[in-house]
Amino acid sequence: MRCPFCSTEDTKVVDSRLAADGYQIRRRRECPECKERFTTFESAELLIPYIVKNNGNREPFDERKLRTSLSRALEKRSVHTEEVEKAIHRIILQLQATGEREVSSKFVGDLVLNELKQLDKVAYIRFASVYLSFDDIEEFSKEIEKLKLDQ
Ligand SMILES: [Zn+2]
Repeated sequence: MRCPFCSTEDTKVVDSRLAADGYQIRRRRECPECKERFTTFESAELLIPYIVKNNGNREPFDERKLRTSLSRALEKRSVHTEEVEKAIHRIILQLQATGEREVSSKFVGDLVLNELKQLDKVAYIRFASVYLSFDDIEEFSKEIEKLKLDQ
């Protein structure tokens, strides 16, 4: 890394240690030219990508919105709130793990479908019927047949 004082290309790491409970690395560097010392911090960049909707609009990921659509699908189903929160957490982790700046809303929808499939089949079908906007009853029954085969 370049020296911020004299722009020499190579600076030397003289000390390296964990910081912020181990979530960061703090490095002391020294410039061999001007002998100045400076510190750098390294930490994981865990950003949640933007969501690109079908119409091309880009919007920040909204955890509340996700929770709302999950609860709507799970209404009157006996799924523990804790399970729902875990599902939300897994969806967010998967979004972060893409390392992308943006993902399609279809990508998020598929993650939700995946989670609902594990949580509750009825909720899955409720969400799928809205999200996949089945054109006719045949498509709908095909999806239900697929679910039966999965079991
Ligand atoms: Zn320097």
